[in-house]
Amino acid sequence: MNIHEYQAKQLFADFGVAVPKGYPAQTAAEFDAALANFPEGTVVVKSQIHAGGRGKGTFTNGYKGGVKVVKSKAEAKEAATAMLGNVLVTKQTGPEGRKVQTVYFNEASDIKKEYYLAILLDRGTSRPVIVASTEGGMDIETVAENTPDKIVKVRVDPAIGLQDYQKRQLAFALGFKGDLMKQFGKLITGLYNLFWEKDCSMVEVNPLITTPDDKLIALDAKVGFDDNALYRHPDIVALRDLNEEDSKEIEASKFGLSYIALDGNIACLVNGAGLAMSTMDIIKHFGGNPANFLDVGGGASKDAVAGAFKIILSDKNVKGIFVNIFGGIMDCDVIAQGIVAAVKETGLTLPLVVRLEGNNVENGKKTLATSGLTIVSGDSMADAAQKIVKLVG
Ligand code: GDP
Ligand code: MG
Repeated sequence: MNIHEYQAKQLFADFGVAVPKGYPAQTAAEFDAALANFPEGTVVVKSQIHAGGRGKGTFTNGYKGGVKVVKSKAEAKEAATAMLGNVLVTKQTGPEGRKVQTVYFNEASDIKKEYYLAILLDRGTSRPVIVASTEGGMDIETVAENTPDKIVKVRVDPAIGLQDYQKRQLAFALGFKGDLMKQFGKLITGLYNLFWEKDCSMVEVNPLITTPDDKLIALDAKVGFDDNALYRHPDIVALRDLNEEDSKEIEASKFGLSYIALDGNIACLVNGAGLAMSTMDIIKHFGGNPANFLDVGGGASKDAVAGAFKIILSDKNVKGIFVNIFGGIMDCDVIAQGIVAAVKETGLTLPLVVRLEGNNVENGKKTLATSGLTIVSGDSMADAAQKIVKLVG
């Protein structure tokens, strides 16, 4: 789960990390009250969407820049008006962009130098890794590609936590001395504690800046959380913004289904993540394109199968459905009944190919065959995949 910059900066502040003073506004009526917190002069106006690259983004209404440093409150109001309710397209949003539903006003900072700092989970060593670079403010992927020596990585042993020598190592790599080194020590400690205590998958500061009077400030903030640990952080779940998530994925999470939308036209309904992956592969192999990854889980109920069908059908790109179920824990007949119920309930007219295998498969096949519905049965995974690819055309 991801959160907005204004929420991330509040968490930063809670953990003792220096951030600019800021106030969010969700409606135009809130602009004046938010701006009243600043003295007249320079203000930063920031579109809040769950995607980076906002500074260089463009709105579909032609307005340029999702982050603007402006010279007066009047200009700040003008910029906020152009942003709020409009769709911002950045390198990370895809061409459809994201609608800005919150604008965040920040006290402007003078920048001496920009740095990059992030904490991620290093899957190779199963440890948190701190990534730092003197090349801040730009695309870190580009830095990694062109000048990999400008990126330092420090891996933290979770059993003993972040050590002082590691903080010094990072400070040294970024060129911080004296009081700046002290400020950096406090900042990285706060960020690491946040990452650890809140079960984050990522904490990113790009850019981290120094000001001409040598203050170290997190100018931008991006924080992601491990979904599997959200149950122990109700305060974090409360920050969830459903506007930023795919409505089909939200619906799927209600039924305990794992659903990820893709851009093909053959919907897949599968049990088990491994089978779901190989189902997508085999569709590709026979020249088709999967519309989604959907794992109904090992013990999905009839209702969950019906729910899965509705989610699949809400995707306008779907031209056919491939059900591939291995009844190991699951009873194939329960699945078959779920399919029949779902087809009747949704009045499905799209081609449907079903391949069932395993526990009680004979009764499952009988349920499908005697349903009076046009359901194509596949004998094997390859056979079924070829059938659905052909039917979709
Ligand atoms: P992003 O484009 O989505 O990553 O948004 P950022 O919050 O990183 O802002 C984009 C850029 O705007 C930054 O890299 C800075 O160059 C600039 N910027 C943001 N806040 C300030 C500020 O307070 N002062 C100045 N001078 N520039 C800022
Ligand atoms: Mg940024």
